[in-house]
Amino acid sequence: MEILCPSRVLSSVLDIDLQALWNQGIRGLILDLDNTLVCWDKSVMEDRFREWIKEAKRHGFKVCIVSNGLTKRVNQFALSMGIPAIAKAQKPRKRAFRWGLRALELAPENVAVIGDQLFTDVFGGNRLGLYTILIDPLSKQELRTTKFVRKIERWVLKKLVEKGLLCSQTLKDRYL
Ligand SMILES: [Mg+2]
Repeated sequence: MEILCPSRVLSSVLDIDLQALWNQGIRGLILDLDNTLVCWDKSVMEDRFREWIKEAKRHGFKVCIVSNGLTKRVNQFALSMGIPAIAKAQKPRKRAFRWGLRALELAPENVAVIGDQLFTDVFGGNRLGLYTILIDPLSKQELRTTKFVRKIERWVLKKLVEKGLLCSQTLKDRYL
């Protein structure tokens, strides 16, 4: 069960305290794309998320995108932001995150994974011992399969709280 437990739960990447992350030794960010930085069905990233990536880079963080999305879409965003990316990463497979660590040239203990899905971003990141931050999906309008996954996510998060692995206050009402 611990392997599914996020290190932090936040509403949005915009709520991440970059300085606190830096102070705890994190130097690189492996970012999910769809529903973390851009709505899965949109082709344009909102300025506030572009600005956030720029701010993270200014802060000194190395940043890359590890996405299960299609190559053309992922590369389009990565190129426009000037950051490395891997598409069709097949998260939660370890090799997806190993690729990210190589791209960042950092050790697992210095890298945080940020994403909206428990079974891909958090589980995969935890498998390699990365710091994992679960955020709320940008869009509530998701595919039927994703909606089903969300149900199981909520169940798991509830169990994590029951087991005392996750503080209930860190979770939003929508999860519990
Ligand atoms: Mg996602």
